[in-house]
Amino acid sequence: KLKPILPAANPPAWLGVMGGGQLGRMFAQAAQAMGYQVAVLEPSQDCPAGQVAQRLVNADYSDAAGLDALAAQCAAVTTEFENVPADSLSRLAQTVFVAPDGHGVSVAQDRVAEKRFFVSCAPKSGVLPAPHKVIAAQEDIDAISDDLLPGILKTVRMGYDGKGQVRVKSRADVQAAFESMGKVTCLLEKMLPLAYEVSVLTARGHDGESVVYPIAENVHRDGILFTTTVPGPNVSEESALKAQKAAQAIVAELGYVGVLCIEFFVLTDGSLVVNEMAPRPHNSGHYTIDACVTSQFEQQVRAMARLPLGDVRQHSAAVMLNILGDVWFEGDRDDAREPAWHEILALPGANLHLYGKDDPRRARKMGHLTFIAPTLEQAQQQLNAACAVLG
Ligand code: ADP
Ligand code: MG
Repeated sequence: KLKPILPAANPPAWLGVMGGGQLGRMFAQAAQAMGYQVAVLEPSQDCPAGQVAQRLVNADYSDAAGLDALAAQCAAVTTEFENVPADSLSRLAQTVFVAPDGHGVSVAQDRVAEKRFFVSCAPKSGVLPAPHKVIAAQEDIDAISDDLLPGILKTVRMGYDGKGQVRVKSRADVQAAFESMGKVTCLLEKMLPLAYEVSVLTARGHDGESVVYPIAENVHRDGILFTTTVPGPNVSEESALKAQKAAQAIVAELGYVGVLCIEFFVLTDGSLVVNEMAPRPHNSGHYTIDACVTSQFEQQVRAMARLPLGDVRQHSAAVMLNILGDVWFEGDRDDAREPAWHEILALPGANLHLYGKDDPRRARKMGHLTFIAPTLEQAQQQLNAACAVLG
């Protein structure tokens, strides 16, 4: 076992976070609960994390003065935004402890680098990504082999929540999709027969110690995470262990420090495929706030502050439901109304988390609800009741 190489940053030290979204807000709340002070660097003025942080550095993610101000104030800096320029993390790292580092984030930002990395890890992780091919120019389209079709064309950078993706059946479809996306470098992935989707949340400390949370089963709607259920109703013990082992091998190979979430597919034949990773807490890990001893956000604090990682034990069955802006609207109407929170909160085991966004828009993540219960059946019943209320 490796020894810590740096002393811990104890409260009330300042912790910095790149990005002002809901993940930064929940990070700040966890850090503040432990007595830390939080500084957020974010270009927009009113943001979910900025509302709760002790300091908001209003600057572009690559603004040198903003980065230097954050580094000067903080004992450690992390990120909540996957697409923060890796160069910015490297600049910060010259004067302050940064976790995760620019390397881990840059691999996760680029689907080609990410796939290559997953392939390189396969001897240790025991899992491979979907068959794929880089599409950067016309000759790549001409050279597509039939067994990659039907497939999904994904932009290499900046894709999230199913954005920057087109389903394709033929080379002509790939051609049209490539052009529609402005001929940016893309990845063509073979469409796989998914039985269900899971994610594995891990945290790794700077001493090389890592923890892995229970496997989560995820249902997406229109490319956006809809529910996360833990324990997953479809997940076999065998695939859970395999995915958890793979996730720990992957974070170790990456030399990663911080919280990282890996998405996997379980195919209809039971085999496991690694899909993508997020170098930060993840939407599918929100259930840990209410159902685990240590939340993913507290874990992020502990990792960056070089404290011992927390207990990942799950004490309650949990179902997490994302709350999108859609629930503020009835049918096609465009006048927003408040959802019936009093009815939702009357349900046993309900935990409401809203992110302080005052402008509900369809498909916008406004918050989430986690139902916890002694049994999964009870948690699922409450979820169904909540869905009936929210419509
Ligand atoms: P995002 O960054 O938008 O989350 P993903 O690669 O996770 O991108 O793709 C979004 C969703 O599309 C996945 O959760 C899965 O449901 C579906 N999907 C992605 N790749 C494949 C694939 N190769 N085969 C089948 N379904 C896929
Ligand atoms: Mg995904």
